[in-house]
Amino acid sequence: MSTSEDSPDVPIICPECETTTRIPAEDVADSLERHNERLHDGEEIAHVDPDLAEQLQNLVAEDLGLLD
Ligand SMILES: [Zn+2]
Repeated sequence: MSTSEDSPDVPIICPECETTTRIPAEDVADSLERHNERLHDGEEIAHVDPDLAEQLQNLVAEDLGLLD
């Protein structure tokens, strides 16, 4: 059970490794960079689930009051 509701897990998809990994939102950028750096020579193969990325953007936009 997660104790921190402030950092929802974000699904990271890597089509080349055929993995989906859930990473706390605050660590996503670092984890992505490390994964791609280590396993894919720095190419941006792994990425945030596109659907969720859009949702997150909307959430953040709502948070900031950008959707008024
Ligand atoms: Zn990978």
